[in-house]
Amino acid sequence: MKFELPALPYESGALEPVIGKQTVELHHGKHFQAYITNLNNLVPGTKYENMDLVDIVKDSDGPVFNNAGQALNHEIYFSSFSPKGGGEPTGKLGEAIKAQFGDFENFKKEFNAAAVSVFGSGWAWLASDAEGKLHITKEANGSNPVVKGLNPLLGFDVWEHAYYLDYQNRRPDHVNALWNIIDWNVVGARY
Ligand code: MN
Repeated sequence: MKFELPALPYESGALEPVIGKQTVELHHGKHFQAYITNLNNLVPGTKYENMDLVDIVKDSDGPVFNNAGQALNHEIYFSSFSPKGGGEPTGKLGEAIKAQFGDFENFKKEFNAAAVSVFGSGWAWLASDAEGKLHITKEANGSNPVVKGLNPLLGFDVWEHAYYLDYQNRRPDHVNALWNIIDWNVVGARY
């Protein structure tokens, strides 16, 4: 299987001021592309050659895991945003958030706390289990909730490459601003 960089579903400057044009172009065009390129160089001739990303991430370790994990993470990440995003989720996901976290504001508070407290490079995720229960997880480096048997719904990338040009060391400000561009139609459809 040859992995390909998915095109952005918006213009590279469309997420400003939450994520700057240069950050989107470097993050998507260089970082995400590098994970795809590395993966395409690593899997030929291995058992991963014809597996999809999720199966590779569940099964692999080392460089294959790191690059497949980041390919999966960024595919979910970049497709979760819209310049018309923000607000609160409705439908099934909105109801589940209210049932489990009390209200959306409280959910956001718990998610932000997870994202801000990831030490070093990694991710914060909202994921669901087989019973539909929601989980907020912290993943180091290139990991993804699929390794815990969970279904990833929304991931915040807290590697410095995701925010340093726009926010420098102010990760909390970046995390807080991301809620303004979440496309809940896309995220809710994953639940
Ligand atoms: Mn990234």
